Amino acid sequence: RIVSGEAENTEEQSFEQSLRPRLLKTYIGQNQVKNNLEIFIEAARNRQETLDHVLLYGPPGLGKTTLAAVIANEMGVNLRTTAGPAIERPGDLAAILSALEPGDVLFIDEIHRLPRAIEEVLYPAMEDFCLDIVIGTGPSARSVRLDLPPFTLVGATTRAGAISAPLRDRFGVLCRLEYYEERDLVTIVRRTADIFDTAIDDQGALEIARRSRGTPRIANRLLKRVRDYAQVRAQGAITYPIAQQSLELLQVDRLGLDHIDHKLLMAIIERFKGGPVGLDTIAASIGEESTSIEDVYEPYLLQIGFLQRTPRGRIVTENVYRHFKLEVPK
Ligand code: ADP
Repeated sequence: RIVSGEAENTEEQSFEQSLRPRLLKTYIGQNQVKNNLEIFIEAARNRQETLDHVLLYGPPGLGKTTLAAVIANEMGVNLRTTAGPAIERPGDLAAILSALEPGDVLFIDEIHRLPRAIEEVLYPAMEDFCLDIVIGTGPSARSVRLDLPPFTLVGATTRAGAISAPLRDRFGVLCRLEYYEERDLVTIVRRTADIFDTAIDDQGALEIARRSRGTPRIANRLLKRVRDYAQVRAQGAITYPIAQQSLELLQVDRLGLDHIDHKLLMAIIERFKGGPVGLDTIAASIGEESTSIEDVYEPYLLQIGFLQRTPRGRIVTENVYRHFKLEVPK
């Protein structure tokens, strides 16, 4: 799905790697988060201390991984990266933690997916920089305390609500990443086009930005596809008509909605009179998982005011009828 916020495959991941800004100064948008981090980073550097643990949350593709790398870079330390589902046993985490060097940033993506038993290993590590390890079994088992170097944990999650309270409370800095404003996405598209050495004009960049669902990952992905189209149809330069034509061809509409969004919204209108309708009922009627609707499709539709959550279920707003050029029901 071209408008999905998730990275598609390893090829896309290495493409993205080459586009990641390395400094707070070159990290575009998210001004509130950046201003806060700038102060905390400078204060920690001046005191020659490690930075407090940071929790980054927000929808996929908004720059959490990028920001973790920026933090490590600005602090002048190494970045170690892992993900919640990759850590299966307490020993896995112990091995990662004991290999850290003083001051390192440990980035745990999808931290809400850490098993509870592993979270418990993390608590003393985050709080006192130590590990409590049980050696042996049965009556002869005893607990040994190992000291760790001071480190900064940067956790990322798309579901802040899924993080347990004791884990959340151990982060000193909580940063919520927001969908990007159009002008920031324009800057991101222009920056990426520069890296690609591709000519793009203001209107072309704006058209890609508008259809990117407030998400840098999608903006870069659309740009890549539009660039191919421009190369074949227009000697390489990206202008408004070129961007517009190629995005139509990719079936990404002028708000960045694709066939799945259309199917979802039309199902609520046609089968449930616009709602309210429960998530599970919608899911069954369009043959999708309710968790994908909740985590992947719905957040942007809520953000742009196309869907509303009510205690009795989801309803579509008048904006949807207008977008599809349908008569707004009384
Ligand atoms: P997340 O971890 O939130 O899913 P990533 O950090 O992997 O998102 O970002 C996805 C892509 O978007 C990367 O290629 C990155 O270069 C780009 N990107 C994200 N945020 C920014 C930003 N603020 N400025 C420029 N590019 C960004």
